[in-house]
Amino acid sequence: MSKIFALNAGSSSLKFSIFEIPSEEVVASGLIDRIGLNDSNVVIKYNGEKFTDVKDVPDHDVATKILLEKLKTLGIIKNFDEIAGTGHRVVAGGEVFKDSLLIGEDELNQIDALSEYAPLHNPAEVKVIRAFHKLLPGKPAVGVFDTSFHTTMPAENYLYGVPYEYYEKYGARKYGAHGTSHKYVSLRCAELMGKKPEEVNIITCHVGNGASITAVKKGKSIDTSMGFTPVAGVVMGTRSGDVDPSMLAYIMEKEHIDMTEMLHILNNESGLKGLSGVSSDMRDVEEAMAKGNKRAKIALDVYISAVRRYVGSYLAELNGADAIVFTAGVGENSAPFREQVLADMENLGIKIDKERNESTKEGLISTDDSRVKVYVIPTDEELMIVRDTVRLGHINA
Ligand code: ADP
Repeated sequence: MSKIFALNAGSSSLKFSIFEIPSEEVVASGLIDRIGLNDSNVVIKYNGEKFTDVKDVPDHDVATKILLEKLKTLGIIKNFDEIAGTGHRVVAGGEVFKDSLLIGEDELNQIDALSEYAPLHNPAEVKVIRAFHKLLPGKPAVGVFDTSFHTTMPAENYLYGVPYEYYEKYGARKYGAHGTSHKYVSLRCAELMGKKPEEVNIITCHVGNGASITAVKKGKSIDTSMGFTPVAGVVMGTRSGDVDPSMLAYIMEKEHIDMTEMLHILNNESGLKGLSGVSSDMRDVEEAMAKGNKRAKIALDVYISAVRRYVGSYLAELNGADAIVFTAGVGENSAPFREQVLADMENLGIKIDKERNESTKEGLISTDDSRVKVYVIPTDEELMIVRDTVRLGHINA
């Protein structure tokens, strides 16, 4: 049986899942974190067991080596020949990578050159792909880009209203993110509706720690809420979402902080965390609100209002949707969140069924007479990565 790796390298972490094909069953998963620091954690889950170890992992190259060795020692991989290929999540694909792609030296250089757009991620991803090239020579490594799905956006939706030369000179435009997730749930939604992707218009709401909303027209992303970077769009766990830049200049002057610090605040100290003062985690904020915490309530209200505005604007862009999908941690698990996002939209043809909303893990949560169908669909970015690896690596199961 062949195995395929889905890999997700961050600036200081390497997450992995190993799928068996053709069953698409996950046989192991885990991560190495604190890469580059002392005491990295190595965690491998398999067969209902959990292996953990603490060791110093100086870089992603060493992390990859340790991972493969451990998988062999634990008997998860008997022989490296079993590994048919590796699929790699890449954060920034710019305008270059319009689909997933088999990665060779030219593509690695291109991903590296796009590091300016994702300075914490792209360099780590390049290192991990190179390490796999070295450790598993001849095995296909496929790059799956967070941005690819959004490369179908038209210029009127990806350009900002700033001098055009910034786009020409620096590629300053909206790129979006979470593309693999939006693609997966929109395809799955069409499947659940018994339609082809090109027959339906869908609004996909990926709401987890990070959150983005996408308008998918006939299978293609035409607009998305994240922007040049993932800080734009709706309010998130710790990210602000859209803000007026003049207000930032005003705050920076008052608080004597520079742009680097301001961006840190917008990315890490804002959103649910900053507004509520409780936590970035939706469960904590919902719990605090239930106990009467007023700031928790206003934080949730701001969050919900931001998502509603994007859903509304995408309904206009799509001339109405056939379906709306909720996915990721909050979207999949918080029935009150879904209910409030789509409350009082009967005139737009949207009606949530309370009972379905509270009990469904995957499937329809709208009423039978709701013109727009509403679905909960658990996202599976790793499965999407594995499927692309099979497709582009020409792997026969
Ligand atoms: P990431 O963007 O890091 O992948 P996830 O998609 O796992 O994040 O989403 C994490 C968010 O999902 C957290 O805010 C968490 O509180 C929320 N979440 C998970 N389970 C529930 C639940 N049962 N009810 C409400 N929120 C939940």
